[in-house]
Amino acid sequence: MKETKQFETESKELLNLMINSIYSNPEIFLRELISNASDAIDKAKYLALTSNGNIALDDYRINIALDKKNKTLTLSDNGIGMSKDDIINNLGTIARSGSKDFVKKMKDNKDAKDVDIIGQFGVGFYSAFMVAKSIEVISKKLGEQAYHFVSDGQENYTIEECEKEGVGTDIIVHLKKGNKENSYDEYLEEYRIKELVKKYSDYIRYPIQMMVTKSKPKLDKDGKEIEGKYDEYQELETLNSMVPLWKKRKSEVKEEELNEFYKSKFSDYEDPLLSIQLNIEGKVDYSALLFIPSHQPYNLYSENYDKGLQLYSKGIFIKDKCPELIPDYLKFVKGLVDSDAFNLNISREILQTSPVLKTIADNIEKKIVDKLKELKTSDFDKYLKFWSAFGEHIKYGIYSTYGFKKDLLADLLIFHSLKEDKYISLKEYEDKMAKDQKYIYYASGSNLDSIKLLPQIEKYKNNDMDVLLLDNRIDEFAISMMREYDKKEFKSIASDTTDDISKEEQEKLDTVSAEHRRLLDNLKESLKDKVDDVVVSNKLVDSPVCISTKDGLSLEMEKTINEESTDGEKVNSTKVLELNPEHELFKIFASIEQDDEMVKEYATVLYDEALLLEGYDVSNKQDFVKKLNALIVKAFQK
Ligand code: ADP
Repeated sequence: MKETKQFETESKELLNLMINSIYSNPEIFLRELISNASDAIDKAKYLALTSNGNIALDDYRINIALDKKNKTLTLSDNGIGMSKDDIINNLGTIARSGSKDFVKKMKDNKDAKDVDIIGQFGVGFYSAFMVAKSIEVISKKLGEQAYHFVSDGQENYTIEECEKEGVGTDIIVHLKKGNKENSYDEYLEEYRIKELVKKYSDYIRYPIQMMVTKSKPKLDKDGKEIEGKYDEYQELETLNSMVPLWKKRKSEVKEEELNEFYKSKFSDYEDPLLSIQLNIEGKVDYSALLFIPSHQPYNLYSENYDKGLQLYSKGIFIKDKCPELIPDYLKFVKGLVDSDAFNLNISREILQTSPVLKTIADNIEKKIVDKLKELKTSDFDKYLKFWSAFGEHIKYGIYSTYGFKKDLLADLLIFHSLKEDKYISLKEYEDKMAKDQKYIYYASGSNLDSIKLLPQIEKYKNNDMDVLLLDNRIDEFAISMMREYDKKEFKSIASDTTDDISKEEQEKLDTVSAEHRRLLDNLKESLKDKVDDVVVSNKLVDSPVCISTKDGLSLEMEKTINEESTDGEKVNSTKVLELNPEHELFKIFASIEQDDEMVKEYATVLYDEALLLEGYDVSNKQDFVKKLNALIVKAFQK
């Protein structure tokens, strides 16, 4: 007897939304049907395995049949099957939270076009109505009557008894007619189905089979090949590889395979710099394949770059980019995670707050960092390649977390060494520090050459002390967040603090300042809108002047912040003009100390000189040149 039944209200809503909205991704229907079939087989297999031999294990498989004439795609499984009640309860009702969320989201989001909502929720069986004008389901459970369900996805469905040979389910999708822009005929093409299976369901553990058309050379009467003539024939082909690469043991996977997998999956033409395979059994079991590209992805810095790893559950693809799996500073990492801990229909909201996901993400972050540390030791040239592409991101990781990640990331850092003229790690710097050296010294600027010319660096060169040269804008920001490495404080050679100077030296400086108080005060007065103080210091050897800064904001940082400021707000570092009391220039100024007017007139020349030596422009070029000329004239007139 054929019964006609109404869909539940909620199901109706969902069906309506499905059919009347514009979808970004109808192709996922196949993934959904295959995953249902795979689940059904899981259940049948479990039943057989736990039946004490009463139920025989079957040759489990999923079959896809294409019928171009009738425009149908049929998906058959020999899984658990459904009884009449099962069909009514499972296909006539939507009781699952994922689907409810989905309905809500679709209603909230009128412009569903640009959001891959269906992909996020995986609404199962119903998604087939995206491509189907009607769907038939023929299903048989072990020892029960088979039933035939038909629906056009509108108001009603019918259900009636039927004949079916074996246990399992056939889903017959009658494809919509469609139009030019939206044709559904693609789902009748073998190549397209193969492609979709590869893309979404390659790793289903049961064979997904399809009769495919092949050709072989036509033979003549004598059994010889006729050139250019072929016979077509049909052959059953398994479309999926069944064993995911990431589920194989590490020893079974060749680097070559990983490289090929990476290139095809993440559309890169170059092999990855580093592949990491993880098979973790612990608090949460998961497998992962992670790749560090050998170059920056072309759109890494664009706003629409989506970071994230692919998420699989039990070999079934759930989500393309799961951002929760990877911290921002590792956004260049590509890869996937497969864990049995997730349900295929997991909603985005649940994913975002999932403690399981958090555990996996933390674990992955650590593993990546460990592997990079290993690489740094084992193949430093390769590490340099990594560093030039992504080093900035690691420093950003320290800076953006306000130093919270410094312990994790500190040993990845490398900087150019003044003494060794190559990149060294903080540990290497530390190992070579003199016993009485308190600080890790660094100098910053826009490029290595200009840093090496900084006036303050002379003393370090003379004393054979190493200084880290920071030539990237983010360097000093990261360093200032770290504050110290292995309990050794970082110190900018351009900072104003003088606590690394001996008592005798300090006393000497104090005496000189006291002697020349009038000069220093006059200079300070005339430069009051430029510097906070004018002092004598022992930092300089050959240069007459330099500018140091207080409070941790350096000249370079000031420049970076002001250049990047979008609201016109500017920061101003607290500057100190330091004079070299041993220098000729200081002595000349000291000799005209009593001439307040003269000192004031030429104060800016000292300041501008310092700016130039630090690698910056003078603020008022006309004024600088005018005063310089006056001095030259005076010199030559003598
Ligand atoms: P989900 O699979 O996410 O639970 P679906 O709407 O895809 O949601 O399917 C609803 C239910 O219908 C499934 O949970 C399952 O019990 C049943 N079902 C769907 N397809 C099959 C099938 N091929 N064989 C047996 N049962 C199925």
